[in-house]
Amino acid sequence: MFNAKFADGTIISMADQWHIDELKELRKKRTFFCPACHSQVQLKLGTSKLWHFAHQANNICIIQTEKETLYHLKGKRKLYDWLKSQKLKVGMEVYLPLIRQRPDILFRNQNTLYALEFQCSPIESTLLKSRTEGYLQLGMVPIWILGGNRLKRHGPHSYSLKSFEWHTTRNFIDQQQFLTYFCPEQESFVFLQQLTPYSSTRILATYQEISLTNSSLNTLLNPSKHYTQLLDKWLTIRKHWRYHQPNPYPSKTEKFLQSLLYRRRIAPSLFPIEAGWPTNHYELISSAPCHWQTYLLLECLENQPLYQPFSIHLAIHCIQPYLNNNIFTLRSMNDDRHWTLAIMGFFHFLVKIGYLEQTPKRYFKRLKNAIAAKTVDEAIQYDQTLYYNTLVTIMRERNEGKNKGISSLKSNI
Ligand SMILES: [Zn+2]
Repeated sequence: MFNAKFADGTIISMADQWHIDELKELRKKRTFFCPACHSQVQLKLGTSKLWHFAHQANNICIIQTEKETLYHLKGKRKLYDWLKSQKLKVGMEVYLPLIRQRPDILFRNQNTLYALEFQCSPIESTLLKSRTEGYLQLGMVPIWILGGNRLKRHGPHSYSLKSFEWHTTRNFIDQQQFLTYFCPEQESFVFLQQLTPYSSTRILATYQEISLTNSSLNTLLNPSKHYTQLLDKWLTIRKHWRYHQPNPYPSKTEKFLQSLLYRRRIAPSLFPIEAGWPTNHYELISSAPCHWQTYLLLECLENQPLYQPFSIHLAIHCIQPYLNNNIFTLRSMNDDRHWTLAIMGFFHFLVKIGYLEQTPKRYFKRLKNAIAAKTVDEAIQYDQTLYYNTLVTIMRERNEGKNKGISSLKSNI
């Protein structure tokens, strides 16, 4: 940390300008204390890190903060200086006794107070959530910026995302989510937009980088929205799912799906054409959509006689036990959408592609059987046909944040 206090409570900050000799003198004569827990702290004046204070090894602070790596110290310092250079009122590591939290940076813009957290190391989702709630409770707007060291790219549009990182998203006005990163080495912000998960840990997203020198506060608060055609990439992912050799060490979910398909004499690579799409709100279920949608199609919907009305509750009751025993898992996100919206989104999609029909009484009817491909090549052909004939429009709507049809389905729950 950059701040400590003297015995009389005066704060001393390494974010201010100091000469090394002055600090060495001070260190001899004075004692420094942690502003939060009041225990004695040491002033570290090494050459490998920025000058900072540290608790003694056996002293654990009352507030859990992230381990002060050089990367974290540097980033915090650069963001602080950058905000200061914009003539804003900025505070470094201000301790907030009411909520017992100490945001990395606190700043005021017009009438709004912002609590900025620069997060470089992993943190429990629950702790992150409770910190966010703490700031909101004090009327502050939290901004979580992830360390650039956390950005893991796997392909031109493919990234890993840890579950806690979903709690650092912010929303555009149209509710589309984005993530913010900052790299103190590159001195730039990165924004990931159009977050489109395709497994519990991987997402498709678009990447915008902007250097600190070209950024103003507005860049951070309201990054410009970019739209890239990401949806073609989804076909590549489906291809991968179809050509992918079965995992020799399958997960609980994979084992469950394998035996389900085996019972129905379907090769795993030939999972239904109608399953495995990024339908509205599908991201609320963190298991891959090709898994839970295949399950719902084969174990619930295909069992419904053709043209016989049934309620969406049937599907909800069908999947519920498998959520309870973690065959399928939910994604914890920083909004209060209920996972049943994912089921509604899937139904909405099945209506659009003509597999289901919604009755005037808000029931559904199955109009046909799921398409059964005989070979992987044939399945891929069907995937493409479905995609280009119907899906392009549906998925574009989703990316543009429109949820047409969902409101009418919602009242059905
Ligand atoms: Zn402390």
